[in-house]
Amino acid sequence: MYHITKDYIRKGNSRSGQRINKVRFIVSHDTGNPGSTAYNNQRYFNNSQPSASAHTFIDDKYILEIIPLTEKAWHVQYNKPRDNQLFGADANDAAIGVELCHGGKINFNEAYKRYVWYHAYLCKKFNLQPQKHIVAHKTLDPQRRSDPESALNRYGVTWSKFINDVEKEFNNDGKKELIGKKEEDDVLDKAILIGGFPDFAVAEVLAARIKAPIYTRAAYPGGKVTKELYVVGGSTAGLQADKVINLSGEDRFAVAEAVNKFLG
Ligand SMILES: [Zn+2]
Repeated sequence: MYHITKDYIRKGNSRSGQRINKVRFIVSHDTGNPGSTAYNNQRYFNNSQPSASAHTFIDDKYILEIIPLTEKAWHVQYNKPRDNQLFGADANDAAIGVELCHGGKINFNEAYKRYVWYHAYLCKKFNLQPQKHIVAHKTLDPQRRSDPESALNRYGVTWSKFINDVEKEFNNDGKKELIGKKEEDDVLDKAILIGGFPDFAVAEVLAARIKAPIYTRAAYPGGKVTKELYVVGGSTAGLQADKVINLSGEDRFAVAEAVNKFLG
């Protein structure tokens, strides 16, 4: 299985925060922008906030979710009728949009493997079937779009080969876990736990630097929430993480000093 990185863009034109009631299908896209990586796209959507978006960008290094799968993204025009005919809903309201990054320095085989794997993963996660519930953007908007087939074809992959590859991966999950036992998917990469409200200001500086959410003690769910846990104030006793980074101290000033020292 591959690791899924969640680095969500801020709310704005690209990310309304509106909830998806039920995920009914998946729309496959490519970025149409050769050489632009998953993180190039994340930064573009975060900063420029165009009123178009997609949930996930995949290149040869990252499977990068930039919009939570519980929220809507704007990846197929609402006035196109085909999604309603096929699935009884507009793609933006009921589908996950997945973008393949390709071209330039991006290794196609590595990106393609991740793209296939992620589609199979989504099918498992939302109880969908690869042959039935994955649709190309081109199919929904043939006048304007040719993705992702235009990109796949360039590397000798047809749409039916792609769907078959997803199906194979989907059926393969006895051998290679698609969804990890520990629901790896729901474990954050990094999180910050503060001791109390006085630690919040300095925790915010750290949060901006390492791009991690801040939890208060009261709101912290417990168990393994994150791989790396930054403790900004208070005890580290009983906390579960692969790595606990202790930035606590005697009082709020010592905590601030520890954080500043860490930030360098
Ligand atoms: Zn598209």
